[in-house]
Amino acid sequence: MSNFDCDLFVIGAGSGGVRAGRMAAQRGARVVVAEAGALGGTCVNVGCIPKKLYSYAAYFGEWAEQSHGFGWVGEAPRFDWAVLKQRRAAEIKRLNGVYEGLLHGAGVQLLRGWARVVDEHTVAVDCAGGEQRLTAQHILLATGGAPEKSGLPGDAWAKSSDDMFDLDPFPKRLVVVGGGYIACEFASIFRGLGAEVTLVHRGTHLLRGFDQEMAVFLTGEMRKKGVKVCLETTVTEAERQGGIQRLRLSNGQTLEADAVLHATGRRARTEGLGLEALGIALNKDGTVPVDDRLQTRVPSIHALGDLVGRKALTPVALAEAMYLVDRLFGPVAGKLVRQPIDYDLVPTAVFTHPNVGTVGLSEEAARRAYPKLRVYRAEFKALQHTLSESTERTLMKLLVDDASDRVVGLHMVGHDAGEVVQGFAVAMQGGLTKAVFDRTLGIHPTGAEEFVTMREVLRVVEAEKP
Ligand SMILES: Cc1cc2nc3c(=O)[nH]c(=O)nc-3n(C[C@H](O)[C@H](O)[C@H](O)COP(=O)(O)OP(=O)(O)OC[C@H]3O[C@@H](n4cnc5c(N)ncnc54)[C@H](O)[C@@H]3O)c2cc1C
Repeated sequence: MSNFDCDLFVIGAGSGGVRAGRMAAQRGARVVVAEAGALGGTCVNVGCIPKKLYSYAAYFGEWAEQSHGFGWVGEAPRFDWAVLKQRRAAEIKRLNGVYEGLLHGAGVQLLRGWARVVDEHTVAVDCAGGEQRLTAQHILLATGGAPEKSGLPGDAWAKSSDDMFDLDPFPKRLVVVGGGYIACEFASIFRGLGAEVTLVHRGTHLLRGFDQEMAVFLTGEMRKKGVKVCLETTVTEAERQGGIQRLRLSNGQTLEADAVLHATGRRARTEGLGLEALGIALNKDGTVPVDDRLQTRVPSIHALGDLVGRKALTPVALAEAMYLVDRLFGPVAGKLVRQPIDYDLVPTAVFTHPNVGTVGLSEEAARRAYPKLRVYRAEFKALQHTLSESTERTLMKLLVDDASDRVVGLHMVGHDAGEVVQGFAVAMQGGLTKAVFDRTLGIHPTGAEEFVTMREVLRVVEAEKP
């Protein structure tokens, strides 16, 4: 036990901070966690959880329409936005309580207020009763990120993703500016809930960094569901009259909207943390630089999650927290110390309608990494839609390194793609080859079986000789 007030001081009780605090306390460390906002951070309050709940809500309209093809008759029920907001808020409040219980149960001391690092072993917290200063052997920065102002015309009135869950009233016409996964998800959700949605993106493709063929396919599917997608387009002017905003676009179009979402980027939350005084200079993108062991240039100060921005996803923040706690306090008795995370094999989903599920490299990245690549592809209408009359189609793609036969990228656009891809991510983590996929029997009739029945090579791509 150290001579400090505590062994670990965690700033931020989001995904990474809560996991690190709880696990360190379970190993016998004396842990203090400071949180300025709601417990659970972005994921629980304004990210993954409320977003996925709203995505479920958005499916019911579509399903009600599709049910007619299966013999269900009569009018679909009417959607009540106020009920959804109220039920979401109650569930999030319950989760905030669960997080508080987890921390208390593990013996973590929780301080409510903004925290800043005073020196390499001291943290000051601006609590309701006045400032509290504590010394710590280790300090963990887990302050996450926040939506960044876009600087685009109309920025002053635009909503951020944080605001979307409680919009009042429900926007009949929504414009979403941005082409990343958050923009695409909100476009799909609000379209599904009944809004007229236009998505305006300056790039040639949605979902930069994802496999481009999948992104193009998704764009087509989103358009079929009624999202108007304007690519290579920017907002040139914006004005507001009453509750209505009028946007002029670079393609000459004028749009009227009841709400405009700017989902153009997020920034690491470093303001007021005191990093400058410690000589911790930020990376160009505003994230905090750490080494492979998640240590900043100050040996007693560590950082993780969205703040370091390796991959801004909850499971990454959790895995980083568990790795760091093992490194600082040792593993649980009888367990091996966790290894640093393999950031190349992080599975992820985009909860658009339909979903995108992906693990491993995009075709663009795989072409750069491997001299010869085999590409397998299956596009089909899911069995459900033979009766539903929906025109939705599914696309799956496997990328295989020809030399080793290893599957290096696996992608899907289709219903529940996130659920499907999670299992295949295990296979890829195990380094499985296409031959193993070929030996695996399918589960019939499912969409997922297509991943083990793809036999025909669509194309072989050879890297260009320098
Ligand atoms: C709209 C949206 C949807 C998302 N959907 C998904 C998804 O489907 N799947 C997925 O994996 N990821 C998703 N994410 C990303 C995910 O939410 C983040 O990657 C994750 O929450 C990062 O965890 P973290 O611990 O780094 O930070 P956070 O969860 O953001 O926690 C940081 C905490 O620190 C607190 N804090 C900040 N500064 C201070 C300070 N100085 N003093 C005290 N407290 C402070 C904040 O109040 C916050 O509670 C989504 C994000 C958004 C915005």
